[in-house]
Amino acid sequence: MIAVVGSEALPSVVGVVFDGDDTLWSTEFLYDEARNAARRIVANAGMDGAAWEGLERRIDVQNVATMGFSTKRFPRSCVQAYEQLCVERSAFPEPAVSLEIQAAARSVFERDAPLVANARKALTDLRDKGRRLALLTKGDHEMQVRRIETSGLQDLFEVIEIVPEKSPAVIRSVVERLGVGVRNAWMVGNSVPSDLIPALEAGLRAVWIDAHVWEYERDGSHTVEGPWTALSTLTDLGSVIHGE
Ligand SMILES: [Mg+2]
Repeated sequence: MIAVVGSEALPSVVGVVFDGDDTLWSTEFLYDEARNAARRIVANAGMDGAAWEGLERRIDVQNVATMGFSTKRFPRSCVQAYEQLCVERSAFPEPAVSLEIQAAARSVFERDAPLVANARKALTDLRDKGRRLALLTKGDHEMQVRRIETSGLQDLFEVIEIVPEKSPAVIRSVVERLGVGVRNAWMVGNSVPSDLIPALEAGLRAVWIDAHVWEYERDGSHTVEGPWTALSTLTDLGSVIHGE
């Protein structure tokens, strides 16, 4: 007798779409170091470093509306905060100080972002289980290309895409390119608005990595509807991700 196995009886292939920044590699460390360096420059110029930092964080969120996720935004915000602080304290901004602040802020985009602990092992374990992996990042294209290259993780992904925005349509097209059904696809990321919400809208399941998120995404006003799980590290991904 010949056993005929219908396609529905075959084990389904599971796909996992990963975010990059602060999911697989950490940018938090780079921003902290750059901000601390700029803050010291402000203090050395005789201004209040803490006041500068408060202004900088507010201005940087406001600047998203006009500058988006360009690499010019953070350095510009740092300089604007210094200039605004000078105006508030009736001091003249010194151009040399502005340039120093700008250079310190730019280091975020010039230095390599360190990999999150266990990133490579977590991805390798998933692949060993037959999962198909994709990397979907947003942000400045050139910088994301460099971060992907320096991560050394490219060989683990079947699909890599850098996009301006992770819409449900973009996520669905990545899942399609992975060759898996949406009901067998998962999104893994640290951002509720950029990763979780569009993925759940697209019909995927999601894992929220409870890592660094910056002020712009921290307003807490998002309603998350759909099947999702929170994890504090990538280590337990293998036991959470499963087929239909
Ligand atoms: Mg992220």
